[in-house]
Amino acid sequence: MRQERLQTLLRGALRLVYPPRCLTCGGLVESDHGLCGPCWRDTPFLGGLSCDLCGVPLPGHSDVAEHCDACRVQERPWAQGRAALLYKGNGRKLVLMLKHADRTDIAGPAARWMARGLQGLDAGTLVVPVPLHLRRHLRRRYNQSALLGAALARELGLRHCPDALRRNRATPSLDGKGAEERFATLDGAISVTGREDLAGRSVLLVDDVMTSGATLSAASLACKQAGAAQVMVSVLARVAKDT
Ligand SMILES: [Zn+2]
Ligand SMILES: [Zn+2]
Repeated sequence: MRQERLQTLLRGALRLVYPPRCLTCGGLVESDHGLCGPCWRDTPFLGGLSCDLCGVPLPGHSDVAEHCDACRVQERPWAQGRAALLYKGNGRKLVLMLKHADRTDIAGPAARWMARGLQGLDAGTLVVPVPLHLRRHLRRRYNQSALLGAALARELGLRHCPDALRRNRATPSLDGKGAEERFATLDGAISVTGREDLAGRSVLLVDDVMTSGATLSAASLACKQAGAAQVMVSVLARVAKDT
């Protein structure tokens, strides 16, 4: 009890020195790890009806799982996919800050947004982040997907397995490439390391962004080849074509 009081006091003292700030604009906010009102309103959170495989928003309402056009054309080797945000406006800004600006503090709140769409997962589900190639990992010093994976695993009470997958080769930047080229580039680019036994397990793959889904496909196939019983996908942001 005394320790709890001490922690509360310390937290109060810290807040005087470092009052909580909005993640994107730096303005003062009421609670830690949040967005201010205007930034919250500018952030395209995904609620409502969305594609059950990739999270892209769909018009209307439905009581059954619906799939978007892209997921009807492109085979998805995972069972379900969820996205917390659209990759535009403040959604894009948050991803880029997490990825390139050392804003690792975004991972915690981002994981809370991602966790909302992931209730009721099997307690034995393994959280597996999409890996970076070693060279890119060294240059960036951290893998943003592993930061999200760690925070999401904590949020959901699941085990995080950051070493389950690896990139077999450095793939060039996919920016500006079409879906077909992305799938060709990523084909066989990811495999299991053998450090985690995925056989018969449910796997929750985690990445920061889903564009064509080529990277998540390569990662999913690697998990399934290693015997994973089921793969689900969770991304912070989904790129939608018409946005
Ligand atoms: Zn703000
Ligand atoms: Zn879809």
